[in-house]
Amino acid sequence: MKDSGKLDRVVAEARRAAAERERGYREQALTIYPWICGRCAREFTRANLRELTVHHRDHNHDNNPPDGSNWENLCVDCHEDEHARGMLGDYLTGKR
Ligand SMILES: [Zn+2]
Ligand SMILES: [Zn+2]
Repeated sequence: MKDSGKLDRVVAEARRAAAERERGYREQALTIYPWICGRCAREFTRANLRELTVHHRDHNHDNNPPDGSNWENLCVDCHEDEHARGMLGDYLTGKR
């Protein structure tokens, strides 16, 4: 039982670190790039900015070069199209 508790903590810590890292790249991407969807050119403001998401061009969320070359701002609709449908549940519920 002790061991599984420790594993739970390790998993929780890894999830927390990943969530922080991902919040970080989203902020960076929104700083580097205009608040416009790269596909449909929909424009965003602070009021609806949560619907603008950051896509990883190579689909690797661990690849976050500081120059933003792996990021693309996409609205949630275009982002869903970019991935297989249903894959974005975590992202859209705020876990990512
Ligand atoms: Zn779009
Ligand atoms: Zn994506």
